[in-house]
Amino acid sequence: MTDMWHEERLYIDGELVDAEGGKVYDNVNPANEEVIGVSADASGDDLRRAIAAAKRAFYESDWTTNVELRARCLRQLHEAIQKHHDDFVEMTIAEVGAPRMLMSGPQLDAPLAYLPFYADLAERYEWTVDLGRAETMAGPAHRWVEKEPAGVVAAITPWNYPNQINLAKTAPALAAGCTVVLKPAPDTPWTGLALGRLAAEYTDIPAGVLNVVTSSDKAIGEILSTSPDVDMVSFTGSTATGRRIMAAGAETIKRVFLELGGKSAHIVLDDVEDMGSAVGAAAFGVCTHGGQGCATSTRLLVPRSRYEEGVEAAAALIGMLPYGDPQEPGNMTGPIVNRPQLEKIDGMVQRAKEQGARCVVGGGIATQFEKGFWFQPTLLADVTNDMEIARDEIFGPVLVVIPYEDDDDAVRIANDSIFGLSGGVTGADRERALGVARRIRTGTMSLNGGLWYGADVPFGGYKQSGIGREMGVAGFEEYLEQKAIAEAVS
Ligand code: ADP
Repeated sequence: MTDMWHEERLYIDGELVDAEGGKVYDNVNPANEEVIGVSADASGDDLRRAIAAAKRAFYESDWTTNVELRARCLRQLHEAIQKHHDDFVEMTIAEVGAPRMLMSGPQLDAPLAYLPFYADLAERYEWTVDLGRAETMAGPAHRWVEKEPAGVVAAITPWNYPNQINLAKTAPALAAGCTVVLKPAPDTPWTGLALGRLAAEYTDIPAGVLNVVTSSDKAIGEILSTSPDVDMVSFTGSTATGRRIMAAGAETIKRVFLELGGKSAHIVLDDVEDMGSAVGAAAFGVCTHGGQGCATSTRLLVPRSRYEEGVEAAAALIGMLPYGDPQEPGNMTGPIVNRPQLEKIDGMVQRAKEQGARCVVGGGIATQFEKGFWFQPTLLADVTNDMEIARDEIFGPVLVVIPYEDDDDAVRIANDSIFGLSGGVTGADRERALGVARRIRTGTMSLNGGLWYGADVPFGGYKQSGIGREMGVAGFEEYLEQKAIAEAVS
């Protein structure tokens, strides 16, 4: 157990409360398997109380109409997190296993910026759009559209980048005037519960507007996707769970935002001058936070004419990438979040080897650590796109290298996936590389190393990588309804 600043209680209807019956479960550090503390283990009834509170707040408080209040509260929450910045750093390293290096980026500081970003956006947003006068069948009318909050939002989040995803959902949903039940993943409860504590202590957020409920039981999420009182589910996680949420929500015609899995491809064109820098983004990306990111490029597509050169360049980078204790500022990669995930990664890699993949770097569970869940940064060559390792999301530090014949073939292979989340192209001829990037059916693309990630950039997937966009203006409008009003005029 540590004495790290944290919160163990649920946040329901404006109160920090224990779970029903005082139930708790262990929060485990994946780097050393130490129990860092406990978290409230909510029951179904706890979650139902949170939904009821969110519904009441939506209908009975002035949250839905008071933009000034919402912007103020988001800024208060931002300030409160800044005050506890170092605590969030330590919590995130301890419960996620995320390397310290990423705290100034997507693991903490980047998502913190979403709070003021959406406060500003709510203040300048065009809430009413005038459509002017029209001659209708019923006579002349003045028409306009009013943007309204979508209602009670269930935000269901995963463990890999909890601050990023908790804030990319709650900030725009609250800014839009929705009320929220946030359900963090069982593996990463503290980063979520801390938001409830700070909302209670430092902000004017009315009771019930934000609720945070943690549970060791994944299945509890079903209550959110089936409740008639939840208007929208905003989910990030695996495609398999996304399908279940969509199916469960069908009965109540639930509005869904889904940000799901990926199997993104990074394409190296045959005119690149420096192979090392051309493969660099993919090699570094796959070793960032153990490859536990949905938008990571996990397939490296290299022209057959330069295949061995590409494999060697990627191997050189992956072989030297520092990994180990996430507390150490130099490490890019820490542990895998839990044992089932570690075993899933290992199973996929061993099957790939049996199917003919050539293991160039790594290739198994790392054994130099006494405790914790560690996988070696791994490069597999001679992979074909029909192999499981090229088709299924792995969520581990594993890059596969696939040869292609020409640009059309590269595009075909990149698009031959049920997913369509992200990817990249590097090439010396900018127009050619851009042409290839435009043909890839994904929601984000990196061109010659460009980074698309940022508060103002919509992020999401084509195909089975999801529905809708998170972040940016699009990620705000996901949480809005549109009401058209027509007034008879003379
Ligand atoms: P993982 O397999 O890594 O846990 P998931 O996509 O299953 O990833 O989980 C992401 C989030 O979805 C977590 O908060 C998890 O508890 C939640 N979840 C899992 N199953 C369901 C479900 N059937 N309905 C709603 N939420 C779920």
